[in-house]
Amino acid sequence: MERSVETMDKIVSLCKRRGFVFSGSEIYGGFVGSFDYGPYGVELANNIKAAWWQAMVHREPNIVGLDSAIVTHPKVWEASGHVGGFSDPLVECKACNTRSRADHLLEEAEVFADEKMSVEEINAVFDSVREKISCPKCGEKQFGSVTKFNLLVKTNLGNFKDDWSADPAYLRGETCQGIYINFKNVLDSTRVKVPFGIAQIGKAFRNEIAPRQYIFRKREFEQMEMQMFVAPADEMKVYSLWKEKRMQYYLDLGFKPENVRWHEHENLVFYAKAAFDIEYNFPFGFKELEGVHARGDYDLTQHQTFSGVSMEYLDPYTNEKYLPHVVETSVGVDRTFLAVMTEFYDEDELCGEKRIVLRFPKKLAPIKVAVFPLLKNRPELVEKAKEVFALLAEHMRAEFDDNGNVGKRYRRQDEIGTPHCVTIDFDTLGEENPLLKDTVTVRDRDTGEQTRVAITELITYLQ
Ligand code: ATP
Repeated sequence: MERSVETMDKIVSLCKRRGFVFSGSEIYGGFVGSFDYGPYGVELANNIKAAWWQAMVHREPNIVGLDSAIVTHPKVWEASGHVGGFSDPLVECKACNTRSRADHLLEEAEVFADEKMSVEEINAVFDSVREKISCPKCGEKQFGSVTKFNLLVKTNLGNFKDDWSADPAYLRGETCQGIYINFKNVLDSTRVKVPFGIAQIGKAFRNEIAPRQYIFRKREFEQMEMQMFVAPADEMKVYSLWKEKRMQYYLDLGFKPENVRWHEHENLVFYAKAAFDIEYNFPFGFKELEGVHARGDYDLTQHQTFSGVSMEYLDPYTNEKYLPHVVETSVGVDRTFLAVMTEFYDEDELCGEKRIVLRFPKKLAPIKVAVFPLLKNRPELVEKAKEVFALLAEHMRAEFDDNGNVGKRYRRQDEIGTPHCVTIDFDTLGEENPLLKDTVTVRDRDTGEQTRVAITELITYLQ
């Protein structure tokens, strides 16, 4: 499908209409940067997380999982550099007070800038093209100067003073700090040896200046991050390997090669050896989906310095002591969700009827199979269909639907990406042809083809 603003509108509308994504706090008029996943959305998000976990933990002999606390000792965020430097360039429109990210406005004007530039650098760039940049809200060109706005979200968790804001804790701005601070714990409590990785999925929070593009940029979002701890000499070799693996991961999910590409960071932070993003072809263009970074020993050095606890690794084979280097892969659940919706959204015509269909791969589909009694008002059909539903539900996420005619039920399931629908009809009961007793019709989402399958073979057929 062609990618455009209309594609985005169609996806947003389908997500709301079919219970994938709702605006956060909708009955109160919404809450900027916040979204809720509905009944099918939570299934899809869970399947996205399960696919990542399977690829990154279950299939990797040297990677283990972790679930660390969202709120940590505040020093973690001083050590990581977030308290001092986790900021985006903010510019305010003097006419309507709308705050925007200066680097994004510059990017739209096709002038290179990024969030890592100093205040002076970005102000100089902004000043040089001021007259070309308009406020996205009111269209005026009356901006103040660019300032740096810290994205860390403060909390009074564990602080009972009235003036807690001078001494706050923080909601984590990324999940990987929980991994670094548990590096020693994992090393000491499990069988792992360098090189090994720790993977984690969890919520992160950022006071994004201008959350935009639906669930692409939220203030509360979820990350899937993996940190591989390696010997310094192996860092770049391991980095290349993970670059390859992560790109292959998206191709294996079923993304078309032309919709994913590499983007190299123009402006590397001082400690990084290499930083590439995997960009996806969202309806609003190619944007970052995942970062793959070679981070040197910066993170462990910082936590060693701030905590006073040694993070060194003693190699049991060479007796060499060193601080491991880190290769990181970091991707958002929400951005993957939007990429998956975009990649598999389709419109076609089946049996002369137009339809919307989500062509999800089976492992991502929120519902794997829908079970229908042919007629709602025939108790013998309904009873048999409920029996089949109970059988399938033991093995996969199934849905029972007896609402409306079968054609309408097919359309509903196509719209949520259900690969198969099973209909229980009079043949299932053996009323017309005893040879067909205890067989059902299985309809394929993509082709509309119908196959007669014995109930006893249904699970194997559908898996
Ligand atoms: P961007 O440049 O788009 O702000 P980033 O470079 O700050 O992203 P990272 O800090 O590298 O992002 O975070 C790793 C991943 O977490 C990103 O690739 C993205 O998938 C996800 N992510 C980051 N910020 C957000 C957000 N505000 N909303 C949703 N997902 C996010």
